[in-house]
Amino acid sequence: MSVFNYNKDADGIVTVTMDMTGPVNAMNDEYNLAMTETIDRLEAEEGLTGVVLASAKKTFFAGGDLKALLTVQKGDEEAFFDGNMALKNRLRRLEQLPVPVVSAINGAALGGGFEICLATNYRIAYNHKSVQIGLPEVGLGLLPGGGGVVRMVSMLGLETALPYLMEGKKVTPEKALKAGMINEVVNTLDELVPRAKAYILEQKGNEDATTQPWDKKGFKIPGGNAGSPKLAQIMMGAPAMLAKTTRGLLPAPEQILNAATEAARLHFDAAMRVEGRGLTYLVTTPEAKNLITTFFFQMNKLNGGASRPKDVEKQLTKKVGILGAGMMGQGIAYVSAMAGIEVILKDISVEAAEKGKAYSVKLLDKAIGRGRMTEEKKAQILGLIKPTAENEDLKGCDLIIEAVFENIELKNKITKATEPYLSEGTVWGSNTSTLPITQLAEASSTPKDFIGVHFFSPVDKMPLVEIICGEETSDEALAKAYDYARQIKKTPIVVNDSLGFFTSRTFGTYFDEGVRAVVEGANPVRVDNLGKAIGMPVGPLTVHDETSLELSRKAAKTWADMGVSNAFGEQAALTEMIEFMVIENGRGGRHHGGGYYDYNADKTKTIWPGLVEKYYNENYDISDQDIKDRLLFRSVIETLKCLETNVLRTVADGNIGSIMGIGAPVWTGGYLQFVNTYGLEKFQTRCGELAAKYGERFNCPAIVGEKIASGETFQ
Ligand code: NAD
Repeated sequence: MSVFNYNKDADGIVTVTMDMTGPVNAMNDEYNLAMTETIDRLEAEEGLTGVVLASAKKTFFAGGDLKALLTVQKGDEEAFFDGNMALKNRLRRLEQLPVPVVSAINGAALGGGFEICLATNYRIAYNHKSVQIGLPEVGLGLLPGGGGVVRMVSMLGLETALPYLMEGKKVTPEKALKAGMINEVVNTLDELVPRAKAYILEQKGNEDATTQPWDKKGFKIPGGNAGSPKLAQIMMGAPAMLAKTTRGLLPAPEQILNAATEAARLHFDAAMRVEGRGLTYLVTTPEAKNLITTFFFQMNKLNGGASRPKDVEKQLTKKVGILGAGMMGQGIAYVSAMAGIEVILKDISVEAAEKGKAYSVKLLDKAIGRGRMTEEKKAQILGLIKPTAENEDLKGCDLIIEAVFENIELKNKITKATEPYLSEGTVWGSNTSTLPITQLAEASSTPKDFIGVHFFSPVDKMPLVEIICGEETSDEALAKAYDYARQIKKTPIVVNDSLGFFTSRTFGTYFDEGVRAVVEGANPVRVDNLGKAIGMPVGPLTVHDETSLELSRKAAKTWADMGVSNAFGEQAALTEMIEFMVIENGRGGRHHGGGYYDYNADKTKTIWPGLVEKYYNENYDISDQDIKDRLLFRSVIETLKCLETNVLRTVADGNIGSIMGIGAPVWTGGYLQFVNTYGLEKFQTRCGELAAKYGERFNCPAIVGEKIASGETFQ
């Protein structure tokens, strides 16, 4: 029996219900066989009046088989292309059946799932927020190669289709309907297949309903073909605009743009071949391997609870006490209230706490302005946040998030002062950026309940939470912090305790290396630009200006007081730079009136001449490649050290944490995945070269050699 259930009713309508082995329907060998058999049968079916394509799974169809795509290597291109063309041909046969073919979209139809729908004459979806529709392949370094590019362009026109293809937008059925991606919605699941059948019956004798627009005589692409003057003008600037956003580091959007433009120029079947070539090229690129590994497999693993203790029951947070209503505390209050959690927001005065609450008002008003929030909902959310200066109000909180100044004595004092008001088992999470959790937990009478819950700024936008386990942190506390992070819709990584944990420690290496190059004599603007050229959001000096040199000065002092100044290697260049910039010249960073750059009133920035005067040496001979590799390798090496010393518990935490927490270039798939596709041996050799030229901080961590010896990669 086929995994595609085939059922013909008295009206001659065949309902094909896809019910593949395993939890989802996906494009694999089983699918290829089932689809071929089904189409053979449909083509031979006598008295056929229509076809409904439905799904027996929760999602309509999950898309391509990503596991299989990861295994395609250079040299496999021809076979892959042939397979892709066969897949397209099957869908072509489906859309060319002489009867209306209707997809009944009961759940998410993304990627390959939606491409199947595009090869039907009419698409009806269940109008529910669980039903996402779109072609998100670009986010995995791929292009929609099941005819998605060509059909979207042919159906909607090049200009309208491009954002869906190049940005991988996922939309609700309502939005998909508005965009013309589907034709109709129904409000209950029970109506779906009956409505599809009713539609088919309504179309009796209507030949139009059995033919795709592009198979009709005289078909013209909406908005004109690529040669039309208006489109030609838009398309002329498109590659340059794209290069600006991807900096030439992501091949998928480039291939999509090319395939889409060709779809608006060539005959349908020829465009299909271009699309197939594009996917065949992309599937073997390191970028696709990196993005699929990290953003699909590892992300699902983390969000699915891989780092959460299995034996502890789910622990939802009902009332959270947030200590400190400053920049971080106010953001944490907002995301908590948005998740329906009651918030006690405490600062040293009610006024200070009110100010923290006002931040939520500002964000909610902005959402109202954009039509994404109602006054009623706003009032409901704000009603959950109670500003206070009294410890008494913390009674009944099942979780505390401490976000006062980064000062160990102050944090210890607060831990002690609030303890009498907390119930047994209340978990205490500190949002410290660098202070060791085990040391902070010493102030607590129940260190097992003490944990690090490290947010990133701005809290409402940054998707990551770094959870840090101290030596005595219990599984219950970890589960509580983990479940809270999911409740507020963040992706949690879980790491072990160490100075600076994983993210703060690794993040610092980026600007440290930039500062070193400048102190050696490299042009600071060049160093900054090369940071961007490797795909970092901004250059190392810019990021240091943003996070503030003043903060680095304070952190250096704290570390000196703790006797750990050189815990991760000497810091001579950074120390010299802070002395010169902050102490001698009062340049503490962007929010302190300027740092490496002067920030002009017209929002431009120019390098501070004093910096160039002091350090720039036009005879300093260093290649762009060396500067780029130095900036990237420092962070990669630090991440490897974190894995080696068990600060990172898993590779997935390292990859997701580096991208979502510290802005690692997306194309790398994270700092550990980068080593896999760069090649472990090659990485070791390059580390050796950099170490010989620039110092032992580039020595390759032993863990790389161990993996090479055992024939493994970082998984
Ligand atoms: P902030 O200076 O903006 O806010 C600190 C708040 O704590 C102030 O409102 C202050 O009045 C309040 N406070 C001080 N003593 C208090 C007390 N006894 N009781 C209650 N409130 C008190 O600082 P921030 O940037 O929000 O940082 C807070 C913590 O978060 C620090 O540990 C910091 O290292 C960490 N952190 C900051 C960032 C960031 O990007 N700013 C990122 C991650 C973590």
